[in-house]
Amino acid sequence: MDTPTDTVPDASDDERLAPATREFLVREQGLLIDGRRVPAADGRTLPVHDPATGRRIATVACASAADVDLAVRAARRAFEGDWARTTTPERSRAMWRLAELCEAHHRTFRELEILDNGMPWNLGEMMAPLAAEFLRYYGGWPTKIEGRTIPASPMGRRPGETLTYTLREPIGVVGAITPWNSPLAMAVLKLAPALAAGCTLVLKPAELTPLSALLLGDLALEAGIPPGVFNVVPGFGEDAGAALAAHEGVDKIAFTGSTEVGRAIVRAAAGNLKKVSLELGGKSPVVVFADADLQAVIPAATFAAFFLQGQNCMAGTRLFVHERVHDAVVEGIVAFTRTLPVGPGLDPRNVFGPLISREQRERVLGYVQTGRAQGATLALGGRALDAPGWFAEPTIFTGTRPDMSIVREEIFGPVLCVQRFGDGDLASVARAANETIYGLSGSVWTRDVSVAHRMVRLIDAGQVSVNCHAAVDPSIPFGGNRQSGWGREMGEEALDLYLKSKAVTVAL
Ligand code: NAP
Ligand code: MG
Repeated sequence: MDTPTDTVPDASDDERLAPATREFLVREQGLLIDGRRVPAADGRTLPVHDPATGRRIATVACASAADVDLAVRAARRAFEGDWARTTTPERSRAMWRLAELCEAHHRTFRELEILDNGMPWNLGEMMAPLAAEFLRYYGGWPTKIEGRTIPASPMGRRPGETLTYTLREPIGVVGAITPWNSPLAMAVLKLAPALAAGCTLVLKPAELTPLSALLLGDLALEAGIPPGVFNVVPGFGEDAGAALAAHEGVDKIAFTGSTEVGRAIVRAAAGNLKKVSLELGGKSPVVVFADADLQAVIPAATFAAFFLQGQNCMAGTRLFVHERVHDAVVEGIVAFTRTLPVGPGLDPRNVFGPLISREQRERVLGYVQTGRAQGATLALGGRALDAPGWFAEPTIFTGTRPDMSIVREEIFGPVLCVQRFGDGDLASVARAANETIYGLSGSVWTRDVSVAHRMVRLIDAGQVSVNCHAAVDPSIPFGGNRQSGWGREMGEEALDLYLKSKAVTVAL
């Protein structure tokens, strides 16, 4: 059952889907370049599959370097033309209209995300409203991006003889490259701050999940964002992605994906030394002290690990539990995880969906084998599900050690590794939590405010939460330390990724 079949009828006949979704799936999905949907220059297409069934659901044009080049040129013309002439209130209003259109199309977005990515219903349902919130938040910024005046005395001039100020200008044409794990959110995380700053974009979504980005591109035009401002070129990473990262006409690459590909992006960007921001992998710690509220810890640690089937960068995949509550926490998480309904996201009861592909499932199950071979104790799961699609059981290992590959490497699947700690000093607990090349997210669970805040300082990550895990909001900066990335997306910080500062001095 686990081979994707292109021969069975596609999803466009599925009665559960909205008519607009079915209509979208059967359409010819061209690339979006300069405001028009066009076939790829070489006519290539990509099949798109539903990971919950293995069925083909759509076909999209597949960009290569020639198409990327056309898109970059269109983005340049728009950057110097229509978008540069747009006033800041007009930019805001266009972004707010796009937010409204995302909400108006929320059902189609939900269904596309479920079919394309395999996310459960409740997450699919959150995506269009989340995209709208990002667009509204950043849509408020264009009128508030300001420079400074500086009381300088260049060349020994006296006060009043010169005027020095800074301009904050859009960086230019942005190449955005995104992963498959949360396609609409990943696209909007780049689009919204880039538009607010006055940039134009060429987005290459993951080849496994191109659909919602294409719909977003159509809606951007409907919202009045000029042609060429937002171009969408689905295609393969090593082809379209590499061409975008290396393109001399691109001023900045905003990348989200694996640390390994992040390094390739940096190398490709070296040609014209384009600016680079990177949101990469994670292996985030969840640290539970003995005084924590276990009623809160158990469901939260479960979802921290298994949210989006563990295919999310901020997943809390290393659970450190104080030995006094270790067994209670592990038993609680195992029991709670057993109650999670597993199945396709189109059924609203399911909260745990399939993995993105057969390759991804094989990778995850390979890690499970290695974990057992290296001596970890399998407390739950560890197998593929005997069903169509790419389902794998949520998996929990206890007795894990920092030298095991399941603890060291990002699995990007539903595998939770539990370690225990005793009554030592906080620094040694934090050292264990920091024993990773990553530094993206993390959480601390305790009722002791002093322990909480001391641990917050000791954990090396771009985001640390207390008594919750991974707070997501447009206004909260998000990004990684160490090999989890460069820069911060979300919040005011994200604007800096798309702006450059110009110092101006006038001799009066
Ligand atoms: P990936 O393999 O690194 O791919 C990410 C994107 O890069 C895809 O669009 C991919 O295209 C493209 N790509 C691949 N090779 C390329 C190359 N040589 N040049 C230019 N682009 C290239 O990551 P993934 O498997 O899609 O996603 C999982 C990873 O993303 C995990 O490591 C996860 O932690 C990370 N992630 C991080 C964050 C964050 O905010 N920090 C958020 C989500 C995910 P194709 O897929 O079409 O090949
Ligand atoms: Mg990939």
